[in-house]
Amino acid sequence: MTPVVCATVEEVRRAVAGARAKGLRVGLVPTMGALHEGHASLIRAARCEMGFVVLWLFVNPTQFGPKEDFTRYPRPFERDLEVCRTEGIDLIFAPQRETVYPEAFSSWVQVEGMQDVLEGASRPGHFRGVCTVVLKMFNMVGPDVAYFGQKDAQQVIVLKRMVRDLNVPVDLRVCPTVREPDGLALSSRNVYLDPEQRRHAVALFEALGAAREQVFRGERNTGLVQRSLAERIRATPGAVLDYAAVVDAESLRPVEPLHGKVLLALAVRFGATRLIDNLVLEITDEGAAEASL
Ligand code: AMP
Repeated sequence: MTPVVCATVEEVRRAVAGARAKGLRVGLVPTMGALHEGHASLIRAARCEMGFVVLWLFVNPTQFGPKEDFTRYPRPFERDLEVCRTEGIDLIFAPQRETVYPEAFSSWVQVEGMQDVLEGASRPGHFRGVCTVVLKMFNMVGPDVAYFGQKDAQQVIVLKRMVRDLNVPVDLRVCPTVREPDGLALSSRNVYLDPEQRRHAVALFEALGAAREQVFRGERNTGLVQRSLAERIRATPGAVLDYAAVVDAESLRPVEPLHGKVLLALAVRFGATRLIDNLVLEITDEGAAEASL
Protein backbone atom coordinates (compact mmCIF):
# COMPACT_ATOMS: atom_id res chain seq x y z
CA MET A 1 0.00 0.00 0.00
CA THR A 2 1.27 3.48 -0.84
CA PRO A 3 1.94 5.47 2.32
CA VAL A 4 0.34 8.85 2.91
CA VAL A 5 2.92 11.62 2.52
CA CYS A 6 2.45 14.61 4.85
CA ALA A 7 4.35 17.85 5.12
CA THR A 8 2.48 19.63 7.92
CA VAL A 9 2.17 18.98 11.63
CA GLU A 10 -1.63 19.28 11.46
CA GLU A 11 -1.93 16.48 8.89
CA VAL A 12 0.32 14.17 10.88
CA ARG A 13 -1.44 14.84 14.17
CA ARG A 14 -4.82 14.18 12.55
CA ALA A 15 -3.61 10.85 11.11
CA VAL A 16 -1.99 9.80 14.39
CA ALA A 17 -5.14 10.73 16.34
CA GLY A 18 -7.16 8.65 13.87
CA ALA A 19 -4.90 5.63 14.39
CA ARG A 20 -5.11 6.00 18.17
CA ALA A 21 -8.90 6.23 18.02
CA LYS A 22 -8.78 2.77 16.38
CA GLY A 23 -6.72 1.51 19.32
CA LEU A 24 -3.44 1.35 17.38
CA ARG A 25 -0.06 2.04 18.95
CA VAL A 26 2.12 4.47 17.04
CA GLY A 27 5.74 3.79 16.06
CA LEU A 28 8.14 6.39 14.66
CA VAL A 29 11.23 5.69 12.55
CA PRO A 30 13.39 8.82 12.29
CA THR A 31 15.56 9.00 9.15
CA MET A 32 17.25 11.43 6.81
CA GLY A 33 16.14 9.36 3.80
CA ALA A 34 18.41 7.59 1.29
CA LEU A 35 16.89 4.47 2.83
CA HIS A 36 18.81 1.18 2.89
CA GLU A 37 18.49 -2.19 4.64
CA GLY A 38 19.53 -0.60 7.95
CA HIS A 39 16.53 1.71 7.84
CA ALA A 40 14.36 -1.16 6.56
CA SER A 41 15.29 -3.21 9.63
CA LEU A 42 14.01 -0.39 11.89
CA ILE A 43 10.79 -0.21 9.87
CA ARG A 44 10.32 -3.99 10.18
CA ALA A 45 10.86 -3.87 13.94
CA ALA A 46 8.28 -1.08 14.17
CA ARG A 47 5.90 -2.94 11.86
CA CYS A 48 6.07 -6.04 14.11
CA GLU A 49 5.27 -4.16 17.30
CA MET A 50 3.09 -1.21 16.29
CA GLY A 51 -0.27 -0.80 14.58
CA PHE A 52 0.62 2.47 12.85
CA VAL A 53 4.13 3.32 11.64
CA VAL A 54 5.35 6.80 10.73
CA LEU A 55 8.61 7.41 8.86
CA TRP A 56 10.22 10.78 9.52
CA LEU A 57 12.15 11.93 6.46
CA PHE A 58 14.11 15.13 6.89
CA VAL A 59 17.74 15.99 6.19
CA ASN A 60 18.24 18.03 9.32
CA PRO A 61 20.51 21.00 8.56
CA THR A 62 21.32 21.78 12.19
CA GLN A 63 23.18 18.52 12.79
CA PHE A 64 25.64 19.16 9.95
CA GLY A 65 28.76 21.25 10.49
CA PRO A 66 29.52 24.13 8.07
CA LYS A 67 32.06 21.99 6.17
CA GLU A 68 29.98 18.82 6.15
CA ASP A 69 27.93 17.20 3.38
CA PHE A 70 24.48 18.75 3.97
CA THR A 71 24.00 20.01 0.40
CA ARG A 72 25.33 16.87 -1.30
CA TYR A 73 23.62 14.43 1.09
CA PRO A 74 21.68 11.97 -1.15
CA ARG A 75 17.93 12.66 -1.48
CA PRO A 76 16.43 9.89 -3.67
CA PHE A 77 12.78 10.53 -2.75
CA GLU A 78 11.15 8.18 -5.30
CA ARG A 79 13.33 5.27 -4.18
CA ASP A 80 12.62 6.03 -0.54
CA LEU A 81 8.91 6.00 -1.30
CA GLU A 82 9.32 2.57 -2.90
CA VAL A 83 11.10 1.22 0.21
CA CYS A 84 8.28 2.61 2.39
CA ARG A 85 5.71 0.98 0.14
CA THR A 86 7.48 -2.40 0.29
CA GLU A 87 8.05 -2.27 4.04
CA GLY A 88 4.52 -1.14 4.85
CA ILE A 89 4.97 2.37 6.21
CA ASP A 90 1.60 3.99 6.94
CA LEU A 91 2.68 7.61 6.79
CA ILE A 92 5.77 9.53 5.67
CA PHE A 93 6.27 12.85 7.39
CA ALA A 94 8.58 14.92 5.18
CA PRO A 95 8.38 18.46 6.55
CA GLN A 96 9.82 21.54 4.90
CA ARG A 97 12.72 23.25 6.57
CA GLU A 98 10.51 26.20 7.65
CA THR A 99 8.08 23.81 9.33
CA VAL A 100 10.83 22.44 11.55
CA TYR A 101 12.74 25.70 11.95
CA PRO A 102 10.36 28.66 11.67
CA GLU A 103 11.79 32.15 11.45
CA ALA A 104 13.53 33.32 14.63
CA PHE A 105 13.86 29.73 15.88
CA SER A 106 15.80 30.00 19.13
CA SER A 107 15.17 27.00 21.42
CA TRP A 108 17.77 24.23 21.59
CA VAL A 109 18.18 20.99 23.51
CA GLN A 110 21.64 20.21 24.86
CA VAL A 111 22.78 17.14 26.76
CA GLU A 112 25.77 18.59 28.54
CA GLY A 113 29.04 16.68 28.64
CA MET A 114 27.88 13.71 26.59
CA GLN A 115 27.36 15.88 23.52
CA ASP A 116 30.99 17.01 23.49
CA VAL A 117 32.89 13.70 23.35
CA LEU A 118 33.62 11.27 20.47
CA GLU A 119 31.29 12.30 17.61
CA GLY A 120 30.56 15.53 19.45
CA ALA A 121 34.27 16.42 19.68
CA SER A 122 34.73 15.89 15.94
CA ARG A 123 31.38 17.45 15.01
CA PRO A 124 30.72 20.41 17.33
CA GLY A 125 27.01 21.21 17.54
CA HIS A 126 26.00 17.86 16.00
CA PHE A 127 24.11 16.52 19.04
CA ARG A 128 22.49 19.87 19.76
CA GLY A 129 20.99 19.57 16.27
CA VAL A 130 20.08 15.91 16.74
CA CYS A 131 18.49 16.32 20.18
CA THR A 132 16.55 19.39 19.14
CA VAL A 133 15.13 17.81 15.99
CA VAL A 134 14.31 14.52 17.76
CA LEU A 135 12.49 16.25 20.63
CA LYS A 136 10.63 18.34 18.05
CA MET A 137 9.62 15.29 16.03
CA PHE A 138 8.43 13.54 19.20
CA ASN A 139 6.31 16.62 19.97
CA MET A 140 5.02 16.88 16.41
CA VAL A 141 4.17 13.20 15.91
CA GLY A 142 3.54 11.96 19.46
CA PRO A 143 4.66 8.32 19.00
CA ASP A 144 4.53 5.59 21.67
CA VAL A 145 7.82 4.09 20.55
CA ALA A 146 10.70 5.40 18.40
CA TYR A 147 13.20 3.11 16.64
CA PHE A 148 16.92 3.83 16.32
CA GLY A 149 19.93 1.89 15.04
CA GLN A 150 22.90 0.93 17.17
CA LYS A 151 25.00 2.01 14.18
CA ASP A 152 24.78 5.54 15.68
CA ALA A 153 25.53 4.38 19.22
CA GLN A 154 26.31 7.75 20.75
CA GLN A 155 23.12 9.18 19.29
CA VAL A 156 21.12 6.50 21.11
CA ILE A 157 23.03 7.00 24.36
CA VAL A 158 22.57 10.79 24.27
CA LEU A 159 18.88 10.52 23.30
CA LYS A 160 18.23 8.03 26.12
CA ARG A 161 19.65 10.56 28.55
CA MET A 162 17.54 13.36 27.04
CA VAL A 163 14.37 11.25 27.28
CA ARG A 164 15.13 10.40 30.91
CA ASP A 165 16.17 13.92 31.95
CA LEU A 166 13.23 15.67 30.29
CA ASN A 167 10.55 13.02 31.04
CA VAL A 168 9.79 12.58 27.36
CA PRO A 169 6.89 10.07 27.12
CA VAL A 170 8.39 7.97 24.30
CA ASP A 171 10.05 4.54 24.56
CA LEU A 172 13.27 4.16 22.58
CA ARG A 173 14.07 0.85 20.88
CA VAL A 174 17.55 0.09 19.61
CA CYS A 175 17.99 -2.25 16.63
CA PRO A 176 21.23 -4.05 15.68
CA THR A 177 23.58 -2.68 13.01
CA VAL A 178 22.89 -4.11 9.55
CA ARG A 179 26.04 -4.89 7.56
CA GLU A 180 27.20 -5.71 4.05
CA PRO A 181 28.34 -9.33 3.57
CA ASP A 182 31.97 -8.30 4.24
CA GLY A 183 31.00 -6.53 7.49
CA LEU A 184 30.87 -2.86 6.45
CA ALA A 185 27.99 -1.18 8.30
CA LEU A 186 25.35 0.07 5.87
CA SER A 187 25.29 3.86 5.64
CA SER A 188 23.78 6.39 3.26
CA ARG A 189 27.35 7.75 2.97
CA ASN A 190 28.83 4.49 1.61
CA VAL A 191 27.81 5.64 -1.90
CA TYR A 192 30.55 8.31 -1.69
CA LEU A 193 33.30 5.66 -1.49
CA ASP A 194 35.27 4.80 -4.64
CA PRO A 195 35.91 1.07 -5.27
CA GLU A 196 39.29 1.08 -3.57
CA GLN A 197 38.03 2.98 -0.51
CA ARG A 198 35.05 0.63 -0.38
CA ARG A 199 37.39 -2.38 -0.27
CA HIS A 200 39.41 -0.90 2.60
CA ALA A 201 36.36 0.36 4.49
CA VAL A 202 35.86 -3.10 5.97
CA ALA A 203 38.82 -2.20 8.24
CA LEU A 204 36.43 -0.63 10.78
CA PHE A 205 34.54 -3.91 11.22
CA GLU A 206 37.78 -5.92 11.26
CA ALA A 207 39.44 -3.65 13.82
CA LEU A 208 36.39 -3.86 16.10
CA GLY A 209 36.30 -7.65 15.66
CA ALA A 210 39.98 -7.96 16.55
CA ALA A 211 39.49 -5.79 19.65
CA ARG A 212 36.50 -7.91 20.68
CA GLU A 213 38.68 -11.05 20.42
CA GLN A 214 41.35 -9.37 22.54
CA VAL A 215 38.76 -8.69 25.25
CA PHE A 216 37.31 -12.20 24.91
CA ARG A 217 40.83 -13.56 25.52
CA GLY A 218 40.92 -11.63 28.80
CA GLU A 219 42.50 -8.25 27.98
CA ARG A 220 41.14 -5.62 30.41
CA ASN A 221 43.55 -2.75 29.77
CA THR A 222 41.44 -0.05 28.10
CA GLY A 223 44.39 1.90 26.67
CA LEU A 224 45.80 -1.20 25.06
CA VAL A 225 42.53 -2.17 23.37
CA GLN A 226 42.07 1.43 22.22
CA ARG A 227 45.61 1.51 20.80
CA SER A 228 45.17 -1.73 18.90
CA LEU A 229 41.95 -0.39 17.35
CA ALA A 230 43.80 2.75 16.27
CA GLU A 231 46.83 0.87 14.93
CA ARG A 232 44.69 -1.39 12.81
CA ILE A 233 43.05 1.64 11.17
CA ARG A 234 46.37 3.44 10.71
CA ALA A 235 47.68 0.37 8.86
CA THR A 236 44.79 0.57 6.36
CA PRO A 237 45.59 2.25 3.01
CA GLY A 238 43.61 5.47 2.52
CA ALA A 239 42.18 5.45 6.04
CA VAL A 240 42.63 8.44 8.36
CA LEU A 241 41.68 7.80 11.97
CA ASP A 242 39.37 10.39 13.49
CA TYR A 243 39.00 8.59 16.83
CA ALA A 244 39.17 5.16 18.40
CA ALA A 245 37.42 5.10 21.75
CA VAL A 246 36.66 2.56 24.44
CA VAL A 247 34.26 4.07 27.00
CA ASP A 248 31.44 3.25 29.40
CA ALA A 249 28.37 2.61 27.23
CA GLU A 250 25.98 4.55 29.46
CA SER A 251 27.97 7.61 30.51
CA LEU A 252 30.52 7.71 27.65
CA ARG A 253 33.15 8.27 30.36
CA PRO A 254 36.56 6.55 30.42
CA VAL A 255 36.56 3.10 32.00
CA GLU A 256 39.73 1.49 33.39
CA PRO A 257 40.09 -1.46 33.70
CA LEU A 258 37.40 -2.69 31.32
CA HIS A 259 34.21 -3.71 33.13
CA GLY A 260 30.43 -3.42 32.75
CA LYS A 261 28.85 -2.35 29.48
CA VAL A 262 31.52 -0.89 27.25
CA LEU A 263 31.32 0.87 23.88
CA LEU A 264 34.10 0.41 21.32
CA ALA A 265 33.67 3.17 18.74
CA LEU A 266 35.52 4.20 15.60
CA ALA A 267 35.34 7.14 13.23
CA VAL A 268 37.48 6.96 10.12
CA ARG A 269 37.85 9.12 7.04
CA PHE A 270 38.39 7.82 3.54
CA GLY A 271 39.01 10.97 1.52
CA ALA A 272 36.04 13.27 2.17
CA THR A 273 33.89 10.42 3.47
CA ARG A 274 33.61 9.85 7.19
CA LEU A 275 32.49 6.43 8.43
CA ILE A 276 31.57 5.32 11.94
CA ASP A 277 31.05 1.92 13.50
CA ASN A 278 30.91 0.41 16.97
CA LEU A 279 30.55 -2.66 19.11
CA VAL A 280 29.13 -3.06 22.62
CA LEU A 281 30.58 -5.58 25.06
CA GLU A 282 29.32 -6.66 28.47
CA ILE A 283 32.25 -7.47 30.73
CA THR A 284 31.86 -9.23 34.08
CA ASP A 285 34.17 -11.17 36.40
CA GLU A 286 33.08 -14.31 34.56
CA GLY A 287 34.08 -13.05 31.11
CA ALA A 288 32.94 -10.91 28.20
CA ALA A 289 30.12 -11.16 25.66
CA GLU A 290 28.82 -9.02 22.85
CA ALA A 291 25.84 -6.94 23.98
CA SER A 292 23.46 -4.29 22.71
CA LEU A 293 22.66 -0.81 23.97
P1 AMP B 1 20.07 8.30 9.20
O1 AMP B 1 19.09 8.33 8.08
O2 AMP B 1 21.46 7.99 8.77
O3 AMP B 1 19.95 9.49 10.12
O4 AMP B 1 19.67 7.05 10.10
C1 AMP B 1 18.36 6.89 10.56
C2 AMP B 1 18.32 5.74 11.51
O5 AMP B 1 18.75 4.55 10.86
C3 AMP B 1 19.25 5.94 12.73
O6 AMP B 1 18.59 5.49 13.90
C4 AMP B 1 20.41 5.07 12.39
O7 AMP B 1 21.10 4.59 13.52
C5 AMP B 1 19.74 3.93 11.66
N1 AMP B 1 20.72 3.23 10.82
C6 AMP B 1 21.55 3.77 9.90
N2 AMP B 1 22.36 2.82 9.39
C7 AMP B 1 22.03 1.67 10.01
C8 AMP B 1 22.52 0.32 9.92
N3 AMP B 1 23.50 -0.02 9.10
N4 AMP B 1 21.95 -0.61 10.72
C9 AMP B 1 20.94 -0.27 11.58
N5 AMP B 1 20.44 0.96 11.69
C10 AMP B 1 20.98 1.93 10.92
